[in-house]
Amino acid sequence: MNKFLELALAGVQQLVPYVPGKPVEELQRELGLSEVIKLASNENPLGTGGKATAAIQASLPELTRYPDGSGFALKTALSHKLAVLPEQITLGNGSSEILELVMRTFAAPAHEVVFSQHAFALYPILTQAVGAQARAVPAKDFGHDLDAMLAAVTDKTRVVFIANPNNPTGTLLAANAVERFVAALPAQVLCVLDEAYYEFVDPAVRTESLAWPLRFPNLIVTRTFSKAYGLAGLRIGYGISSLDVADLLNRVRQPFNANMLALAAAEAALGDAEYLDETLAVNNAGMAQLTDAFNSLGLEWIPSAGNFVSVDVKQNALPIYQALLKKGVIVRPVANYEMPSHLRVSIGTERENRIFITALSEVLRGV
Ligand SMILES: *Cc1c(COP(=O)(O)O)cnc(C)c1O
Repeated sequence: MNKFLELALAGVQQLVPYVPGKPVEELQRELGLSEVIKLASNENPLGTGGKATAAIQASLPELTRYPDGSGFALKTALSHKLAVLPEQITLGNGSSEILELVMRTFAAPAHEVVFSQHAFALYPILTQAVGAQARAVPAKDFGHDLDAMLAAVTDKTRVVFIANPNNPTGTLLAANAVERFVAALPAQVLCVLDEAYYEFVDPAVRTESLAWPLRFPNLIVTRTFSKAYGLAGLRIGYGISSLDVADLLNRVRQPFNANMLALAAAEAALGDAEYLDETLAVNNAGMAQLTDAFNSLGLEWIPSAGNFVSVDVKQNALPIYQALLKKGVIVRPVANYEMPSHLRVSIGTERENRIFITALSEVLRGV
């Protein structure tokens, strides 16, 4: 029994921590395996990009200094690339921090927070951490049911989370459906549109949401350098909002929340079109490779717009996950998302995907 339990905030007393994907080194240590393949955290399988690496190296001698707390250079680059005002941008230690800043700025124990069943695990955790009430709305075909979510909004609702595409389901909402939803929200309800996988979405069906916060000042769109830009280890993401919301988030954030290497690497990565092109090509090919294999194995999977896919193994997925670990392959069980028969698999390189497919078919055959 934790001696300080009763001293913790009420929400924190009940809190169950986020469970990350198993680290490669941990499995190597546990099983003495020399090669381990990790397809568990939707990371970019290409390794750090060349331009980001060069920018990090160039910044190393400056690490005795504090970073630029205003993030001037990165905000300038983002504002040009995304056609938004620099003052609309909030930089974060990963886009997770932006989600947290929104909650700490706007949600208190008297408030309700609406999100979908099967939505990203951080939403309920952040809700509970500030002591607000979670309203998880049943999903429709694994995706967000926007009508039901709108109906769940009450006078007490202060924040709504939409993940598009959603993790771990990969489901994508149509742009006009999201726009209608945001337009219908009461003005005092902050809507967080989490677009962590935006870059992976087919341009023909993307939600071009960055112009919306100036029309809907209660909307904040979040994106990240962790996934398509390959910088998960550095922790850098951003929010695009109205000037009023950005001003408030800026008051709450720590003054140096985005670190120097992350700022430099993100700015360089933004200009590395070659890396992004290769990332998307590898992802598209890998998605076809995995889903073809699932079809051959007679397994159903949820069509995904991200860099991962959730597959239904038609039994409790935990023993399958554990058997894959023994073969040196780390994927993600998603029972904590109320999907006990699914495994979420991040798209890897052609070779990583191949090793995973071989391991999965062996495990399903009992070898
Ligand atoms: C990965 C992810 C994030 C944020 O990741 P950061 O590394 O904190 O930028 C946010 N939302 C969803 C849905 C994600 O899957």
